[in-house]
Amino acid sequence: MKEYKCKYCGEVFEKPLLLARHVRPTHKRAKTREKKVVAIGKESDQINRSIEAIGILKGLQALPNLSQGEKKLLQEVSQRIEELLAYSVIAQYLVV
Ligand SMILES: [Zn+2]
Repeated sequence: MKEYKCKYCGEVFEKPLLLARHVRPTHKRAKTREKKVVAIGKESDQINRSIEAIGILKGLQALPNLSQGEKKLLQEVSQRIEELLAYSVIAQYLVV
């Protein structure tokens, strides 16, 4: 008799339909959840790095011997990162 073996956990089923019924809820869903968790982990990592970058830029803005132009540029760049950051945070909530 032919056996249908689950490629994820090795459980054996008599009919392909039974295998399909086992695979879909047990493995497919768990897999997408795992992917989401990984994606969220990466996002938070990037968010943390962006926060760090903003901190560095703010520190640079406070340097005493910068020209007005340089100060303005640094402020613009950190503002841009802040906007991106806000967007990422919103996107992260939407994913969940
Ligand atoms: Zn299985």
